[in-house]
Amino acid sequence: MRVFYSDQHHAHDPPGQFNVDRMGAYSECPGRATSILDALRKSSAHQIDPPADYETSILRTVHDDEYIRFLQEAWSVWSGTGWSIPLIPYTFAHRYALHQSADIIARAGYFGFDPQTPIVAGTFDAAWASARCALTAADLVRKGEPVAYALCRPPGHHAAADLYGGYCYLNNAALAAKKTGAKSAILDIDYHHGNGTQTIFYDDPDVFTSSIHAHPDREYPFYSGCETETGAGNQTNFNIPLPPDVDDDDYIAALGSALDRIDRFNPVTLIVSAGFDTYFADPLGDFNVGLEGFGRIGRCIRELGRPTVIVQEGGYHLEHLGECVDHFLGAWT
Ligand SMILES: [Zn+2]
Repeated sequence: MRVFYSDQHHAHDPPGQFNVDRMGAYSECPGRATSILDALRKSSAHQIDPPADYETSILRTVHDDEYIRFLQEAWSVWSGTGWSIPLIPYTFAHRYALHQSADIIARAGYFGFDPQTPIVAGTFDAAWASARCALTAADLVRKGEPVAYALCRPPGHHAAADLYGGYCYLNNAALAAKKTGAKSAILDIDYHHGNGTQTIFYDDPDVFTSSIHAHPDREYPFYSGCETETGAGNQTNFNIPLPPDVDDDDYIAALGSALDRIDRFNPVTLIVSAGFDTYFADPLGDFNVGLEGFGRIGRCIRELGRPTVIVQEGGYHLEHLGECVDHFLGAWT
């Protein structure tokens, strides 16, 4: 398996996040990528390379100019006002917002949608390196490689064209889909709904989006992810919200429905937003997928027979995350 990874992710290491009742440890920590890297390095089946260079203008294929500018300059503007703590907005643009303030906290609250996604000194550089991993994997598949894996950190599926949150700043899977330049499908198997990806392609008839996730009645990101969200008139969005305690067999059944729909859409390329917070011991999720389950999920996706770009999303069990990824990728090796 061709794997793309950048050490640059270490530059994004927020000291904590605001949870329901207190500041806590930052779940989306550098140790996640280290866990995956360590597991993949144990096998000779993987060739791990740094990503290629691109012009940042390529981000405009998915993200708005003003949003990109905000991410690029947020830390320098924020630290220039005298702060050295992470930039976390304390107020957010709401349904009745009429004014877009130039204040840096207000800009963060305009483009951000939760207080769990801090911006620190290295955030943009890490997000950009993560995006380049996805772009490089997509380029390789576009040129004929049957499959490639982008070890992305930070993840991307919660980020929309002009919105960050859920530990995500740039939507790596969406950038990969655009980079393939062909009719494509994005299958999101992270525990959480891929709200950013859905929003980006909601009215695009050339990109089919499907997400299997915890029902938004009980789980983040709460405001989307239902079966009724089928795309802007074109039936190219397919959500499968699930109850707690989903086991391997339950998950494979849901996956079968998503793969049937994708097969009927007949994409040239498949992008997999691969999250592993569906793991039974993951601290953020309530599903019960086991290590063998990830191998089965991988084999089902492989049987679809499409050129496939695998993009790393969530997964927070530091000790076993790498093994989860290795079992999944094992379907292709
Ligand atoms: Zn997740």
